[in-house]
Amino acid sequence: MSRELPKASVLAPGLVSEGGDIIMNSLSFIRSHLEMDVAYVSEFIGDEVVFRDVCAPGYEASVKAGNRQPLHETYCHYVVGGQLPELIPDTNLQPFTQHLAATQAFPIRSFVGVPILRADGSIFGMFCSFGKVARPTLNSRDLEVVRAFASMAGDQVNERLSLASTAQQKFNEIEDVLEAQRFEIALQPILRLKDQGTAGYEALCRFSPQPYRPPNQWFDDAAEVGLQVALELYVIEVALKILPQLPTACYLAVNTSPATLATGKLSALIAAAGGDRIVVEITEHAAIDDLDVLLMEIDKLRDHGARIAVDDAGAGYSGLQQIIRLRPDVIKLDMSLTQDVDKDLARRALASAMVQFAKATNARVVAEGIETEAEMRTLKNLGVELGQGYHLGRPALSADVLKLMRSA
Ligand code: C2E
Ligand code: MG
Ligand code: MG
Repeated sequence: MSRELPKASVLAPGLVSEGGDIIMNSLSFIRSHLEMDVAYVSEFIGDEVVFRDVCAPGYEASVKAGNRQPLHETYCHYVVGGQLPELIPDTNLQPFTQHLAATQAFPIRSFVGVPILRADGSIFGMFCSFGKVARPTLNSRDLEVVRAFASMAGDQVNERLSLASTAQQKFNEIEDVLEAQRFEIALQPILRLKDQGTAGYEALCRFSPQPYRPPNQWFDDAAEVGLQVALELYVIEVALKILPQLPTACYLAVNTSPATLATGKLSALIAAAGGDRIVVEITEHAAIDDLDVLLMEIDKLRDHGARIAVDDAGAGYSGLQQIIRLRPDVIKLDMSLTQDVDKDLARRALASAMVQFAKATNARVVAEGIETEAEMRTLKNLGVELGQGYHLGRPALSADVLKLMRSA
């Protein structure tokens, strides 16, 4: 399967919008405080200046974020080089400015600009403002105000840079995981509580890079940098290869987020693997955006014979609303409901209500995270059909599980 990876460069816009309000508010304040027309934050890239944040009411068409200018044509360049002062109340009184095309083009009659430094002291760009009218009253106190706001904007710029660099790191790490398949699939048994027979296995991803981090952290990072769908699909693709090696009476449960399901790419994988022994667990860590699309995809999976499970039911976003809307074939009770269920009346009442609901809607209940004999017995007595947890079997790498099966 070919995986579509977003280019690392597309990371920046989404992530660097962080702190944008503070920068825009600073620009807007300085522009009106100095009674100028345009205020902007620029970045020096090679021999160009790139406008990053721009406040230019009335001039939006000509001065906008993303505009680039050769460095040597800008005031910024000469302020940093010391040929121009940071504050120019009247450009007509600064002969040097007359050589610059921008002076005539806009035209610029007043200017103020101070450098923005990166955390390591190098120059990132400038915080500037300019206007069409000379402002002879501007003085060093105005410049101090501009410096204060530029410093605030500079903090935000550095925050952005650090976010973008963390994101880039995450992106590279996950891209490497995808390219070199740096993960394995672990299987955890799901048992019938009445006779302890194995009904199925849940495929759980184990990422190899050290130090070890739980899979949900990897998937959260992948979501942050736009690689969630690629990662989830790839893991499912690898997990589904295990299916033919499992006993025919056992199902294989794979995990997906609603976002991946909504792309419509999962159903082809499920169809290719022969859907009737597959349970697709929908793991929700965020609110569902478009329920209609999701229901359509769920129908497609069912057409291929797969069953749908709501994972972590009773926790986070997997509340009753979702269970009612998604009409799952399997309800996986979150371990927060399972733990201490033998000692806690409220948990027992809720588990029992779930069992009744499942009966009425023709669904099956799996209790997750069973860690003790007492929890297991209590859940069984409440009518919970299936269980999963350390007490019944820990997740183990699929190669080991399959080897054990063969030798048995
Ligand atoms: P989940 O899908 O609800 O998986 C159950 C988690 O509970 C697993 O953690 C499992 O090892 C753990 N667990 C099982 N029995 C017990 C128990 O008795 N006690 C306790 N305390 N924990 C138990 P794991 O493998 O670390 O996965 C955590 C979460 O990461 C998963 O929760 C799922 O949301 C996500 N995840 C794991 N593998 C995948 C995957 O392949 N794809 C996707 N999309 N998500 C995955
Ligand atoms: Mg799960
Ligand atoms: Mg779960």
